Amino acid sequence: MRKAFICAKIMRTNHLEAMEAFEVIVIGAGHAGCEAALACARKGHKTLLLTINVDHIAWMSCNPAIGGLAKGQLVKEIDALGGEMAKNIDATGIQFRRLNTKKGPAVWSSRAQADMFRYARRMRRVLEGQENLSIRQAMVEKILVKGDRVVGVETSLGEAIGARAVIVTTGTFLQGLIHIGLKSFPAGRMGDLPSVGLSQCLKALGLRMGRLKTGTTPRLDGKTIDTSKLQVQWGDDPPIPFSFSTKEIPLPQVPCHITYTTPKTHEIIREGLDRSPLFTGLIKGTGARYCPSIEDKVVRFPDKERHQIFLEPEGLDTLEIYPNGISTSLPLDIQIRMVQSIPGLERAQIVKPGYAIEYDFVDPTHLAPTLEVKDIRGLYLAGQINGTSGYEEAAAQGLIAGINAALALEGREPLVLDRSDAYIGVLIDDLITKGTQEPYRMFTSRAEYRLLLREDNADLRLRDLGYKVGLVSEEEYEEFCRKREAISMELERLEKTRVRPTEDVNSFLEQAGTSPLDEAVSLRALLRRPELTYESLLPLDPQRPSLPREVAEEVEIQVKYDGYIERQLKEVEKFKAMERQKIPQDLDYTKVYGLSKEVVEKLSRVRPSSIGQASRISGVTPAAIAALMIHLKKQGSKTSSPSPS
Ligand code: FAD
Repeated sequence: MRKAFICAKIMRTNHLEAMEAFEVIVIGAGHAGCEAALACARKGHKTLLLTINVDHIAWMSCNPAIGGLAKGQLVKEIDALGGEMAKNIDATGIQFRRLNTKKGPAVWSSRAQADMFRYARRMRRVLEGQENLSIRQAMVEKILVKGDRVVGVETSLGEAIGARAVIVTTGTFLQGLIHIGLKSFPAGRMGDLPSVGLSQCLKALGLRMGRLKTGTTPRLDGKTIDTSKLQVQWGDDPPIPFSFSTKEIPLPQVPCHITYTTPKTHEIIREGLDRSPLFTGLIKGTGARYCPSIEDKVVRFPDKERHQIFLEPEGLDTLEIYPNGISTSLPLDIQIRMVQSIPGLERAQIVKPGYAIEYDFVDPTHLAPTLEVKDIRGLYLAGQINGTSGYEEAAAQGLIAGINAALALEGREPLVLDRSDAYIGVLIDDLITKGTQEPYRMFTSRAEYRLLLREDNADLRLRDLGYKVGLVSEEEYEEFCRKREAISMELERLEKTRVRPTEDVNSFLEQAGTSPLDEAVSLRALLRRPELTYESLLPLDPQRPSLPREVAEEVEIQVKYDGYIERQLKEVEKFKAMERQKIPQDLDYTKVYGLSKEVVEKLSRVRPSSIGQASRISGVTPAAIAALMIHLKKQGSKTSSPSPS
């Protein structure tokens, strides 16, 4: 690590003792920064949030929506732990939908269109009203480090501010470079300055950096769109909130519209490829394969006749429309022709052009599971800076970094979620163990225990932890305990309530398409039958108490899937046993007999905290794990599992 120049800077300016000091400084007020700052301040720590533009706090750089497949699970987990994102979208959402409901509950995910302006305004109000939290507009250029500890930051105006912990959440801003056609210019995102000095400072601190790319669609003027012939899509009625604490959705709900590209659209796109920064090699950063631009889609799938586009409103007080599905960095004249070749958009005017952005990110294998940089105590990184993409992924990391920075200040054990606890655990473990070569987004397929990590049970999995950590209020926790009790009482009642094979019962069952009874069975056993639901069993269950929707739903899921859940719980036991076998952070892997040079190099770089994590590093073979275990046994290394005290 090359920290010399930073330390030299502190010594030379010699204002470290005199400078203003906070316990925590959060750099960046995007989705990660807001959660990190709130977590620290709510835990009673004097926190400063620094951001390039205070008018863009919690800004949605891309689509005006929260949640979606696997992302909905992240939002619910953030809420269960005491974060803000779910409450913020509930207060400002204008269309709520639960996706994937035709499949099993493991992959149900909620998504909501946001009024993005209200979303940003409300989050700013929450931050402003938060005790222990100050907000300032400033561009941070340096992280100040003394020895192996962070001690503060320095802004572009030369102001040095002290802190015992610094959380960096700078999103797409590090050396950001926007591309539209063959034109490019530095920016953090459209309309925001890039962050140049900080990127150089992070490099000078010895952090490995890479370059990624993402893109967004042109925004359209709604009054120039003809929706009369387009398919209308409404949300769920009633809308189901994200937060376990929200009682109702306050804003009026609005529809989206659906249209499609045409062969003409594809022809126009092909004509513009010779001026595409993607196809002419101008863009060097790696983009996400799963989230291709429209030009990518047209080139990669030449036989596909049309691509779907959702026309999403950006808010209740604006006519601006986000056409989801046509992310592009083609030149503006091509963007205009392309848009106007789409049904309903023949006269559409572009308000803001689509663009691609390249930016620096930090190799996340530098990080411990707490999101602290392993070699610099008190320095945490969260959000897109770690190679992820998406508001939800960013917010989840921001919350964990904030909680752990605060717990470290309190001298308490860190909060580390593992792959069987939460999608957040999967996200962080993937990042810190494998790193990433392209913008990382969450998918349900990344979670091996996804039957356990459902949206509906995020509170059952994580509420206790959120309360223990100090972010869930007494009132919310009591409400949760009542819900947990109601679920367990109902499960017990279903087990104890017997249904006898009377004529009426058997005729009811036959009508429901399921076999009649020969002997008395419990309601729980009947509910396991695929033809029956909790609701449909009501006529056989006259004593049923009136239960809230979410309690009844949870009971039904737990009964219907209990065989699968039990099987997965057994797998989790094996997984946990591997995670409990801790590896000392200062282990010298060159001293472990039987490891190849390549494996020594990989293990030394990632420095896994457990045998389980070591086994997930690509190229670390079962034989290498066996050698490591023998070495640790010889050393008599102790085992313990971290949890907040
Ligand atoms: P951001 O929300 O980017 O916030 C960064 C914050 O850091 C800002 O407040 C900024 O002012 C501040 N900052 C930066 N540098 C400094 C500094 N030196 N000093 C002080 N403050 C600083 N996500 C998707 O899920 N799907 C997509 O399709 C998608 N497409 C995108 C397209 C574009 C063009 C862009 C820009 C983003 C896109 N995103 C997409 C990503 C999404 O916007 C981010 O993942 C998310 O906003 C990241 O959150 P964050 O908190 O890490 O950073």
